[in-house]
Amino acid sequence: MDPKPMRGQRIAIVGGGLAGIAAAEALSRFPFEIHLFEAKRSLGGRAGAYRDSDHPSLIDRCQHVAMGCCTNFLGLCRRLDLQSCFRRDTRLHFIDGDGNAYPFEGNSWLPAPLHLAGAFRQQKYLSKPDLKRIVSALWEMAPPSAIKKYADRTMRTWLEEQLQSETAIARFWEVVLVSALGAPLSDVSFVAARKVFVDGFLRNVHAYPIYVPQIPLQDVFDIQAAQRLGERGVHFHRQSPVRQVAYFNSRFNIRYGQGSEASFENFIAAVPWHQSPKLFSKILRNLMPKLDHTDRIASSPISSVHLWLEQPLTDLPHAVLLDRTSQWVFNHGPRQLKEKTAHYYQVVISASQSLAGIEHKVLVEKVLGELVEAFGADQTPNLVGQQVVTEKQAVFSATPELETIRPSQGTILPGLALAGDWTQTGWPSTMEGAVRSGYLAAEAILRKYGEHQVVGDPDLSTSFLSRILWGLGKKDTCS
Ligand SMILES: Cc1cc2nc3c(=O)[nH]c(=O)nc-3n(C[C@H](O)[C@H](O)[C@H](O)COP(=O)(O)OP(=O)(O)OC[C@H]3O[C@@H](n4cnc5c(N)ncnc54)[C@H](O)[C@@H]3O)c2cc1C
Repeated sequence: MDPKPMRGQRIAIVGGGLAGIAAAEALSRFPFEIHLFEAKRSLGGRAGAYRDSDHPSLIDRCQHVAMGCCTNFLGLCRRLDLQSCFRRDTRLHFIDGDGNAYPFEGNSWLPAPLHLAGAFRQQKYLSKPDLKRIVSALWEMAPPSAIKKYADRTMRTWLEEQLQSETAIARFWEVVLVSALGAPLSDVSFVAARKVFVDGFLRNVHAYPIYVPQIPLQDVFDIQAAQRLGERGVHFHRQSPVRQVAYFNSRFNIRYGQGSEASFENFIAAVPWHQSPKLFSKILRNLMPKLDHTDRIASSPISSVHLWLEQPLTDLPHAVLLDRTSQWVFNHGPRQLKEKTAHYYQVVISASQSLAGIEHKVLVEKVLGELVEAFGADQTPNLVGQQVVTEKQAVFSATPELETIRPSQGTILPGLALAGDWTQTGWPSTMEGAVRSGYLAAEAILRKYGEHQVVGDPDLSTSFLSRILWGLGKKDTCS
C-alpha cells in the first residue's frame, strides 16, 4: 500500500476511554498525525481509577474484568504490551447462602461445551430439576435460529416461557447475566443474554477464563498504554474537553479547552451515548440521524463497596456470592492505608438501582456482614477504611430495542466516525465492546484513503462439537 495519501493527514479522536485508545492504536499503525482529546486528567474513561488522600496508590473506581472471549480487548493489550497487567484465572468460586464454596473450573482437554459439564454438575446449590431445566433452556437458546425466534423478548420473559424456577433465575441466570450485562433481566434482551452464554461458555474452551487487572487501571491505560502510543507519535491533550465540532471546507474544526481551536481532516467521537449528540454542529448531526435517539438508550448503575479490614477474610482471589446483595468480591490482599497495613476487598454490585437512597454506612455494614457470613469468619474484622462508589451511568441496558438505535461507526461523510461501547458492535457495554468500536471507527477512517483492512481480532473459533450440536459458526451472533 502507498502510505502517501495518509501521510500528515490529521485525525482528532475525542474521548480517551477504551474506544478512543483502540482507535488511536489502530490508526497509529499508519502515517497519520493523531491527536487524542480527553476531558479528564487521565485516560481510561469508565475503566479508570481515583486517588484518595488516605491511600498511597490509586484505587480503581470499580473492579473490571475481561473474559477470554474478549479477543479485541486482549488484542489491544497485546499490541500495547499490557498483557502482564492482567492475570488469567481459570477457576471461579461460588458461595451459597450457607457459606458453602463451590469451585467452577473447565476441563481444557474436552471440547466446548463439554469442557464445562463437570464444573456445572458440581454447583450443588442448584437442584437436579433446576439443573435439568437450565440445560434444556441453554439447548433452546444456543442455535442461531433462536436469535430471530426470540428477538423481541426480554430475558426475564424468555426464562419464564422456558419454565425456569425463581431459584434457578436468581442462582444461575442472574448471577451470570447481571454482572455481564449490568442490568436487570427484565430490561435486557434475549439476544444480548444469548450472546453472553454462547460466546462466553458454549463456543470455545478458552472463552470463560477471566482476566483480572493486577495494577490500578489508571496505570494500565493512562500510563502504560499512553506511553506506548506516545512512542508511536500519538499526541495527547488531557483536561481538554471538546466543546463542539463543525465541518467547513472539508475540514473538522473543533473548539476545545478554554477557547482553543484546531482543524483536522478526520474526526472520531469516542464519547458515551449521553454526551455524543452535544458535540456536533447541527449540520453534522443531520448526517447522523441515529444520534437523535440516544436519549432512548437506558443507563444502568453499578456500585462498588471498597473495604479495608484489619484481618483477612479469605484466601480466595475472588468469589461470586449467591442469594446476597453483594455479587462479586475481589480480594486485593494487603495494602498500605495511612500508617497501617489493611486487607483490601472490593465488592461489586451491578444493576444497583435498588440501592439508591440507602445510606453508605448501612450498605457497608450489610456488605461486611455478608462477607463475614460467606467466608465463615469467627468475628467481624475491624474496618480500617471504607468507600462506596456508584456510577449512575455505568453501562447501557441491552434492551430489545437497543440494536435498532445503535449507530454504526462509519458515517456518510468520509473521515467522520463514531466510537464508544454503545455504537453498533453486537457487544454489551464492556471494554471489549469499546475496543471493537474503536477498531471499527479506525477502519471507517481508513476506507476514506482506499484502505479496506480489518484492524481488530477475530472471534475465538467454534468447537467442532458446538458446530454439530447447534450449528454455531462464525456468523451466528447478532454482530
Ligand atoms: C462501575 C463499572 C464497572 C464495569 N465493569 C466492567 C467489567 O468488569 N468488564 C468490562 O468489560 N466492562 C465493564 N464496565 C464497562 C466498561 O467500563 C465500558 O464499557 C468501557 O470502559 C467504555 O469505554 P468507552 O471508551 O466506550 O467510554 P468511556 O470509558 O466512557 O470513555 C469516554 C471518554 O470520553 C471522555 N469525554 C466525554 N466527553 C468529552 C469531551 N467533550 N471532550 C473530551 N473528552 C470527553 C470521557 O471523559 C471519557 O474518558 C464497567 C463500567 C463501570 C462504570
